Amino acid sequence: MHTVKIPKIIKFGENALSETEYPKNALVVTTAPPPLNSKWLDKMGIQDYMLYDKVEPEPHIETVHKVIEEFKSKNLSAVIGLGGGSSLDVAKYSSAEMGIPKILIPTTFGTGAEMTTYCVLKFEGKKKLLREDRFLADMAVVDSYFMDGTPEAVLKNSVCDACAQATEGFDSKLGNNFTRTMCKQAFEVLYDAIMNNKPENYPYGSMLSGIGFGNCSTTLGHALSYVFSNEGVPHGFSLSSCTTVAHKFNKSIFYEKFKQVIEKLGFDKLDLKAPVEEAADIVMVDKGHLDPNPIPVTKENVIQCLNDIKSGNM
Ligand SMILES: [Zn+2]
Repeated sequence: MHTVKIPKIIKFGENALSETEYPKNALVVTTAPPPLNSKWLDKMGIQDYMLYDKVEPEPHIETVHKVIEEFKSKNLSAVIGLGGGSSLDVAKYSSAEMGIPKILIPTTFGTGAEMTTYCVLKFEGKKKLLREDRFLADMAVVDSYFMDGTPEAVLKNSVCDACAQATEGFDSKLGNNFTRTMCKQAFEVLYDAIMNNKPENYPYGSMLSGIGFGNCSTTLGHALSYVFSNEGVPHGFSLSSCTTVAHKFNKSIFYEKFKQVIEKLGFDKLDLKAPVEEAADIVMVDKGHLDPNPIPVTKENVIQCLNDIKSGNM
């Protein structure tokens, strides 16, 4: 038997943001400061709402506690997460704790967080990846409206993450026919959008990717990427190389096409400051990504992959 978990309602495509009806007395949670968030709220046409716009990037569980403290007695109808991953994660956790519905509206795309049961927050200064059914959205609204004004580098990294998640997810041992169908379709949409300059299709592709990998997992590429994240390399950028060498190692059916996409987007070579041996030890403890990898991975394999990344041997 297989189980698939996706939001109850998904609104997507042109005008999804402005044509969706939002409940009265909802709390909007966002990282975006006033001139920007009021522009978004106008576009949504939302009325009678409350606003918490003090979510910090890479938020701490303390922020969730503050939100609950301030709003739990206000009879909220829903929590609306409006923003990037940080806003969505605070909305996921606080609405789950308060037992009220959540609506997730990603303004950056790529992670597919609006489709998944994942939630990333800092506890005692350390980032933790949580996965619980109660973090799933009651409604997600996906609209390419927000792409206007997103810096080119952010777009590039985001779409690379979406491609990596879709293709790694396809190969995950935790997958099934449904997740493979979604992941394959996600990559087809993203590949076409990247190669034929149709960036307006990125949010839809990343939504499909979220539905796919969110119901299985990512694999070796993501496991390799975290040693670069630790050195401050943006997530999507590190995947440009990490997922490519992982696909080579796994003999993935997406190896060639993923490489084409990376070349088209144009990424620099990755550098690793930590000694390869040490980095490999860090990768090896990431069982959450290595166990579902289609081929068993040894420390020697990881060292080889890291050396290939460093030397640009893709
Ligand atoms: Zn990712």
